[in-house]
Amino acid sequence: MCMLCTRRGFLGALGGGVVAGVVPALARAQPSMARSATKPLPERGEFVITNATVLTMDPALGDLSGGSVHVKDGVIVAVGRDIRVPGASVIDATDMIVLPGFIDTHWHLWHTLFRNFAGDAGPSGFFPTITRFSAVMNPEDMYASSLLAASEAINAGITTVHDWCHNIRSRAHADEDLHAVIDTGLRAQWSFGQALAQSDKELIRLADLEAMHRDWNRLSGGGLVRLGMAWRGMFRNEWAPVEVYRTEFDTARRLGIPITVHIGTLTSRTGHIEAHAKAGLLGPDVNIVHACSASAAEVAMVKASGASVSSLPITEMRGGWGYPKLREFLDAGVPVAVGVDSVVFGGPANVLRNASLAAMQDNAAGQSEFRMTMRRALQLATLDAARVMGIDDRTGSLTVGKRADIVMVSTNALNMAPTTDPVHMVLESAEPANIDTVIVDGRILKRQGRLTAIEPGAVIAEARRSLAAVRQRANWK
Ligand SMILES: [Zn+2]
Repeated sequence: MCMLCTRRGFLGALGGGVVAGVVPALARAQPSMARSATKPLPERGEFVITNATVLTMDPALGDLSGGSVHVKDGVIVAVGRDIRVPGASVIDATDMIVLPGFIDTHWHLWHTLFRNFAGDAGPSGFFPTITRFSAVMNPEDMYASSLLAASEAINAGITTVHDWCHNIRSRAHADEDLHAVIDTGLRAQWSFGQALAQSDKELIRLADLEAMHRDWNRLSGGGLVRLGMAWRGMFRNEWAPVEVYRTEFDTARRLGIPITVHIGTLTSRTGHIEAHAKAGLLGPDVNIVHACSASAAEVAMVKASGASVSSLPITEMRGGWGYPKLREFLDAGVPVAVGVDSVVFGGPANVLRNASLAAMQDNAAGQSEFRMTMRRALQLATLDAARVMGIDDRTGSLTVGKRADIVMVSTNALNMAPTTDPVHMVLESAEPANIDTVIVDGRILKRQGRLTAIEPGAVIAEARRSLAAVRQRANWK
């Protein structure tokens, strides 16, 4: 694994053209990990996708039938019809819908070992489950869990994840979680947080965060991954001491990294957004997660602050935390989008499913078939999500000059036939099995339904081994 990471860091730095100079990647000591799970990432080349139904998600470009997308060295260089480029490879997209890769805005990748583990009674519910397991996870378990998540993401057409890593029990836990993302070639924000079971009276490992920030050029997967802070905020299970939350917040601001925080996670946790606003702890660099308790006045405070919101309908409703407040934030003009959050309950990692559920909940609440259009919902999973993450200058739509994060959805399947409205088909009918091709930053990571740089069998085997060991350590029979 160490050799692969070194190679990938090197290739990424060259191919991405983002990181100045070539510096050695982080040395890692993980002799026990399955070395067969990932392969070197493919080179970025030059290719033209042709004969496609193209949903650019760019308001100025719209949709194209018989469309083409020309990609060179990771960049979208042309979008149009009948583009022919001598020397470029041709990817025939007949019967395919081509659109920007899906973007997750909030996901605890390290949860994925515990898929569907949340039980049906208090002690086996979501929070007790993840808290008990978190305390016995080793760095290699973090890697195995997040590698499974990242592999699932690519398979489902998710090209950007926001990895909200809040089980950092040591620097090695952080490194392994980060490497799982980098090894798969995803675009990401990787946000440094607490150890889940840590007291809210203790600071997070700020020295490790500062060291990673200092070394970020060589840790960032060639510039594909951005560092952030997964901040606890003023309140988690109880109100935190000011010297804890303020010190953490001020550190992130001093480092100039984006801040993301769970606030108002339950409908009953009222007044928390107002408390953060009055303490000066919101701003354009702050992403609020859930905000189910937001009052009308608090929605206005969020708008005034410039903060964004991640609304996560599946976990919010499955967990009984509350009804998503996505509509309220949309109407106020707050950047809002969806994400995966966790697969411990609620279903697989599927940004489209979150977006379609957001639309269904919104239409139900509005008693209208048309309150949220399917195109608007698809935007929640693409361009809006890029805006929430602050990366809409480089992804979120098929626009000339942006990086090439692209999915191709096959309509040659029983659940996708016959061809009708492509926006509705992608949002309401497409499943990961229909995702034919996934391209991240110009690298083809899934082609004709198969992952090109990941061996799923090895990823699954490693996850099974890791879960068995974690269960044994937690004495969870
Ligand atoms: Zn969360």
